[in-house]
Amino acid sequence: NNKLVMIPGPTPTVRSITDQMGRETVAFGDPAFVRDFKELVINLKTLLKADGECFVVAGSGTLAMEMAVSNVTKRGDNILIVSNGFFGDRFIDICERKGLNVDLLQAAWGEVISPEEIESKLKEKHYAAITVTHVDTSTGAGAPIQEIGKIMRNYPDTIYIVDGVAATAGEREYVDDYGIDILFTGSQKAFGVAPGLLILWAGKKALERRKSIGTIPEYYVDFEKWIPIMNDPAKYFATPAVNMIWALKESVRLINEEGAEARYDRHTKVSEAINKSLEAIGFKLLANEKDRCSTLSVVLYPEGINDLEFRTKLAEEGVMAAGALAAYAGKAFRVGHMGNIDDHTVYSTIAAIERTLIKLGYEYEKGIGLKTLLENI
Ligand code: PMP
Repeated sequence: NNKLVMIPGPTPTVRSITDQMGRETVAFGDPAFVRDFKELVINLKTLLKADGECFVVAGSGTLAMEMAVSNVTKRGDNILIVSNGFFGDRFIDICERKGLNVDLLQAAWGEVISPEEIESKLKEKHYAAITVTHVDTSTGAGAPIQEIGKIMRNYPDTIYIVDGVAATAGEREYVDDYGIDILFTGSQKAFGVAPGLLILWAGKKALERRKSIGTIPEYYVDFEKWIPIMNDPAKYFATPAVNMIWALKESVRLINEEGAEARYDRHTKVSEAINKSLEAIGFKLLANEKDRCSTLSVVLYPEGINDLEFRTKLAEEGVMAAGALAAYAGKAFRVGHMGNIDDHTVYSTIAAIERTLIKLGYEYEKGIGLKTLLENI
């Protein structure tokens, strides 16, 4: 029987999206597909209020991280990595392999680096780029990307890269309004499509930087290779993931039907309700209350609950949750609540968590999680 995929990506896929993935594949030069692809790119730019370019390329979030860095830096450049956890740290390896000089601002897990700390670092020396992870999926804390963007306006020679993999289409993000130069995500997160696509928005400043650095070593992720295709998908550079593009187009249609603003508000409401419910049961959350994101929760186990046992039982009750990463492995679990989920999914998840705790003999006020949900959504 099917289990609810409540890990922080991939997220549950709704029928109209899986229908697109299941369609008979057509030639990528098929005029109807070319039209669909073109429309998708335009719709994605409108959704994120991003002038400039939007790239939809087969690959995962990690490839998007490489794409972002590769197009705006060259060997020997300084880069500032603002890391609030495991995925922020991933930029260190990526950048060091490219021969960049890495400076790091690293938050304690569950906390985020403040805009003030970033600003004082930016005053020290010139950085070609800065990376900020909007939601670090290892902690459930969200960075203040809009406030950081205001600071970045005073540093016009520094490219502001935002990793939106666990945020975009779930957390409020507007590329140009926020002063973001590059934003990216993967199809499997808050867009609610299966894994397989990266989506990357690049503003004018990032595109000018790309032009100014000449030929780059990377081939597949080169903006210059993809720009002609994104503006006219009848052209060929590398084979587009036809069915995934259709699926993403359907996802954007669903987002517009719901309304982007309403969608972000829904994520806020649902996450607050889930967090209250988990806390009422007796769990603690890893992320600081003031920094909590609305796309996932990282939930610390109370004394006496074994991670593997808990998540195995939870899966038997119909819900998949993810383990925690690095130092928190075994000490917490992660539950996603982003994308195209409805209230029934949320109730089912909390009900499965309660059933699991009861089966494990954990002492708490039975039903308090569901009662708290009822009072909040
Ligand atoms: N950044 C963040 C914030 C992520 O959550 C993830 C994946 N969980 C990645 C990057 C890497 O994406 P992928 O696993 O799709 O390569």
